[in-house]
Amino acid sequence: MEKTIKNNIDAFNKLLSESQKVAIFTHMNPDGDALGSASTFQMVLRNRQIASEIFIANEVPGSLAWMPGTNAIKANATKKTLDAYIKTADLIVCLDFNEPGRMDHLSYILENPPLPVLVLDHHPQVKTYQGLQIASTSYSSTCELLFWILKRSGNLPQTREMAECIYTGIATDTGSFAYNSSSPGTFRAVAELLEIGFDKDRITDLVFQQFNASRMKLLGHMLANRMEIIPEYHTAYTYLTQKDLKDFDFKPGDTEGFVNYPLSIANVKFTAIFIEKDDYVKISFRSKGDFAANKFSNSFFNGGGHLNAAGGKSYKNLNDTLKEFEEKVKSHYHEF
Ligand code: 5GP
Ligand code: MN
Repeated sequence: MEKTIKNNIDAFNKLLSESQKVAIFTHMNPDGDALGSASTFQMVLRNRQIASEIFIANEVPGSLAWMPGTNAIKANATKKTLDAYIKTADLIVCLDFNEPGRMDHLSYILENPPLPVLVLDHHPQVKTYQGLQIASTSYSSTCELLFWILKRSGNLPQTREMAECIYTGIATDTGSFAYNSSSPGTFRAVAELLEIGFDKDRITDLVFQQFNASRMKLLGHMLANRMEIIPEYHTAYTYLTQKDLKDFDFKPGDTEGFVNYPLSIANVKFTAIFIEKDDYVKISFRSKGDFAANKFSNSFFNGGGHLNAAGGKSYKNLNDTLKEFEEKVKSHYHEF
């Protein structure tokens, strides 16, 4: 058993046995891993007759609303609702994010947490609190880490809903087992999920084959008209303006995965997508090999994440942000 888990099983069980009411958090713009781990955690607590709520700062993307448990999530949670809940809760659980900023306006609760905090995560540099942190970048996803913790601690729900949630998290965070999935443990977890029983092909269809036509057209538009390649620096980037999003009837979740496409060009090792929002530019970075996308993002674009998958923000306008990106790539590529 991996040390990260082995050393923490007793503390994990102790924390749960001392809890009666738990506030579960995951990051804003939740993905399959965020929602899968949060809903699974709620199932575990329910099995132990522990009350809980899942709070997220914005919405559950429509494309993932089919996931078991998502209808119970307190989306667009306000400070008022959260404060009222926290008053009588005894534990905070943070899943799939390493720094409070990823909870947007709910991050205040982690500035000086009024309760012990349990963090389960697979990002580097997890912020620590009084409580328990079980975090390791050697897991594909928070869902995989959670699966092994639950299995080893005797808390794994033997249900289809759990299997669907955990599988969705693993499948989405690995891009259908394309990256972050070289560990045999990832496949062992999936094998056990299949033994518990769920329809894998149905999940693949729901996650990867249910897009609307306008999303496909937006992707085509981006690749044909909004992609720049800087071959000398093995870099390609794409961008979408607010007008592009409007023209192609953008819905939350539609651009999920778009950032990866330029990485399939031979010789490209670093890619970024810039999406123009109302008051900032949302950026995603991906890389191949040892180019540290998280450090690049952290150095220049107020962000972070994993070695090969990171995100950030820019408060300059889209054009200036793109210019800055090109400059930084040209002057600093070799430092990452
Ligand atoms: P995505 O590009 O899918 O939004 O995010 C990829 C990864 O980058 C996420 O798993 C998350 O770890 C990280 N990430 C995305 N946005 C931010 C951000 O604004 N700040 C930090 N620290 N990490 C981010
Ligand atoms: Mn994740």
